Amino acid sequence: MLGKTTKGLRGFLIDAPEPGRLRAVRDGAMLIEDGVILAAGPWEELRRLPEAAGLTWLHSPEAVILPGLIDVHAHLPQYPVVARVESGLLPWLERHVFPVEKEFNAATARRLAPAFFEALARNGTTCAMLYTTIYEESCDEAFAAADRSGLRAILGKVMMDDGSYGGLKPEKILPLSLEQSERLCRKWHGHDGGRLEYAFSPRFAVTCTEELMRAAGALAREHGAYLQTHLSENHDEIETVRRKFPRHASYTAVYEACGLLGPRSVFGHCIHLAPEEVGLLAGSRSVVAHCPTSNLFLNSGIMPLDRWLEAGLRIGLASDVAGGPELNLWQVMRSTIESQKARSFYEPGVRVPTAAEVFYLATAGGAAALGKEALIGTLEPGREADVVVVDLAAVLPVDGRGNAHADLTPEEIITLLVYRGGPAAVIETFVRGTSVYRAPAPGLL
Ligand SMILES: [Zn+2]
Repeated sequence: MLGKTTKGLRGFLIDAPEPGRLRAVRDGAMLIEDGVILAAGPWEELRRLPEAAGLTWLHSPEAVILPGLIDVHAHLPQYPVVARVESGLLPWLERHVFPVEKEFNAATARRLAPAFFEALARNGTTCAMLYTTIYEESCDEAFAAADRSGLRAILGKVMMDDGSYGGLKPEKILPLSLEQSERLCRKWHGHDGGRLEYAFSPRFAVTCTEELMRAAGALAREHGAYLQTHLSENHDEIETVRRKFPRHASYTAVYEACGLLGPRSVFGHCIHLAPEEVGLLAGSRSVVAHCPTSNLFLNSGIMPLDRWLEAGLRIGLASDVAGGPELNLWQVMRSTIESQKARSFYEPGVRVPTAAEVFYLATAGGAAALGKEALIGTLEPGREADVVVVDLAAVLPVDGRGNAHADLTPEEIITLLVYRGGPAAVIETFVRGTSVYRAPAPGLL
């Protein structure tokens, strides 16, 4: 009965099918066939299934098996300049980011992109939505590296025709940027059964003309691709947009006028939004990429998470490397909780999310934000097997190997991971049931 691509994983299964609700199976197991979860439940039951006959089970009851983490906003070429301190977003872009993005040619991409995707997988991230830079060739190389890595990725070449670092005259940039972006989209959008997808990526209204933004939005709709940009991250940025587009009522209204809002549009940050802007985003089912580690690092502010969720905004979590200092989404989850706690100290009535809620945002919530809730984000049969296997003993203060989670509830395990999780705890990462990362020294597991 054993299909040649059947795989069995054994461990403590935990996922979050709804905000705040954890579902768990202690001494559980998962059967994966052709990259899809065939069954998930108690190991004692699964091992008796005909599909499990003769199967060698990977991992052990000591491991914890979770849905792969989903990072909905980061910048691949910026990885080398993480943790470069600056007063705020705009000077940081000029002094640290634009110089390194200018150097992101094809050769740099060939060197950096494979390491970047390996770092994602080592952090337990199985799906990421990424910007590259303005260059077509290096974006193409980044796609090729994503393809080889086995990870699920949405990438886009940065578009900017106003204050770009490319050295071309603005009027020359627009047609070229559109042509190159569309060519990349045609080549990569939907590649490998949809594992790789394209996002038209006008950087933000500060460095784009209305003409470019309108055309980018039209191309994204025409190709059924994603669109990603930045919105309302920093007060100086907002003021710049207000002065540049005086006939529009708000920053979000600029994007609305250009046709950029919609269910496949992901807006990074969205911190300082007026109520009517929240209404525009919610009404269009647009997506917010919440980047708390970046927002604290760049002194941008704290997004009012509870208010945006109550307003019905679709929200995923994001590292925003290099604004955020690392790709570790557990740290982003921790920062999500702690930044809301900080708000609650001076703002009455703030609801601080639980560990289970931020874990939802990083898994099923992120999948829903990207419109992939039927495909990934939980451990349900029928979903593609994007999963991460974690060594809980690695996050315990005293090595609990042999009895790591005997007394711990699923909530306690997720909380431990939110506060202490990261690459040291990841044993193996799978996308569509294929191993994309395995820790070099898996210890006793
Ligand atoms: Zn960003």
